[in-house]
Amino acid sequence: MLNNVREFLNSLLLKEVFKGMSLTGKYLFAPKTTIQYPEEKTPMSPRFRGLHALRRYPNGEERCIACKLCEAVCPALAISIESDQREDGSRRTTRYDIDLTKCIFCGFCEEACPVDAIVETHIHEYHGEKRGDLYFTKEMLLAVGDQFENEIADKKSADAKYR
Ligand code: SF4
Ligand code: SF4
Repeated sequence: MLNNVREFLNSLLLKEVFKGMSLTGKYLFAPKTTIQYPEEKTPMSPRFRGLHALRRYPNGEERCIACKLCEAVCPALAISIESDQREDGSRRTTRYDIDLTKCIFCGFCEEACPVDAIVETHIHEYHGEKRGDLYFTKEMLLAVGDQFENEIADKKSADAKYR
């Protein structure tokens, strides 16, 4: 009974409306958090998992040793690797493809790699207009690695102390 009277008085005095208006007023003068993307960007974690890249050592040699751990661990079966032995006896991939339409960006491939060859970069502004555009071959992945090696190395070292 008492509750009903209280509710009736509250509705008569428009208490809920004033409560809502006061909340709106509070945010009217609060600092704005809207970001004018793409001119402005929010900070990004060094662990952000974007477009994949294959890295090289400073002497230009590709890091990947074709151990296929990344292929084995990939839950989406997105990675396809073929390998062969070189004349110098080392093993390298002859094919390293990632189908980004299958990839779920879990980061397992990067975690599994013993030589930090396959990494996920901070790049997220890319698109494909047809399915084949998101099928990244070894050459394409190495090209991404070559172009962004400095950023990749910086983010790896920023995150190293937490690993
Ligand atoms: S991020 Fe995950 S799903 Fe994508 S290729 Fe690597 S292991 Fe596979
Ligand atoms: S990218 Fe790393 S985990 Fe994958 S095959 Fe090459 S060395 Fe092995």
